[in-house]
Amino acid sequence: MHKITLSNNFHNTEITVLTDYDTAGETWYHIQEPVFAGYPTAAQRAKYRRVKNVLCGSDDCQCGTVR
Ligand SMILES: [Zn+2]
Repeated sequence: MHKITLSNNFHNTEITVLTDYDTAGETWYHIQEPVFAGYPTAAQRAKYRRVKNVLCGSDDCQCGTVR
């Protein structure tokens, strides 16, 4: 595990998370995967929501959250 910073250059926001992956793209993919697959643990759901709310608080936004 190491830290990686996920950023959003549309909202000018960023968040640092612990990850096993080497890139922001892979990290974000694996944060979303269990939520979209429908079987997240409570911790996985909380992490997804935390990252999304920091980077982009709007559900209707098309920015893509991590970019
Ligand atoms: Zn947005």
